[in-house]
Amino acid sequence: MELLNRKAIKRFEAAQSEAALFDFDELNVIKVVKTLYKRLASDNRKMFLDLAQAVYDEADPHGDEEPDEAWLLAFLEEYNAVTKYVYQHEIDRKRDYTAEGVNSSKDKAKEFRRGLMYWSRMTEQYCLDVSDAATLKAFKDAGVARVRWVSEKDDRVCGKCQERDGKVYPIDKVPPKSHFGCRCHIEAVIEK
Ligand SMILES: [Zn+2]
Repeated sequence: MELLNRKAIKRFEAAQSEAALFDFDELNVIKVVKTLYKRLASDNRKMFLDLAQAVYDEADPHGDEEPDEAWLLAFLEEYNAVTKYVYQHEIDRKRDYTAEGVNSSKDKAKEFRRGLMYWSRMTEQYCLDVSDAATLKAFKDAGVARVRWVSEKDDRVCGKCQERDGKVYPIDKVPPKSHFGCRCHIEAVIEK
């Protein structure tokens, strides 16, 4: 995650310098930003896939059908109840928003910074969501029927999460997390 953010920072800096070379010519900005988001998206896909496979293998129990690229793409094409958008669509929206911002504002650097901030926030949330989805897949593949919701036992946990703590759900009926940055996780219920 840290590493990825450093990479994203570098990508945004490079794009900004490139756009500056052409004096922020509007058409050039659109081109530079398009390339920028294509690279960011590709960085994220690689990272999400590595993360999903690592989480899958660590899940106890887990099956033997590690998440692959097709699994990841299907997940990113789905509506996400936490972020309230489809990742693959949101990339284009963020890209256009950044290009429009840079083109319409005098403070170009600020618009690039804003783009980076939104990108990082989305990436951070999707690291959690991809991990959760990979865990669920691992349990399903291993034949787990029910899972238990586990929330963090500290004073930062919100009421809604605390209320769910310890609840057991059929594996196909696990509710989505109720907010960004939720630290809850699920564990397999081992039937006797
Ligand atoms: Zn939570």
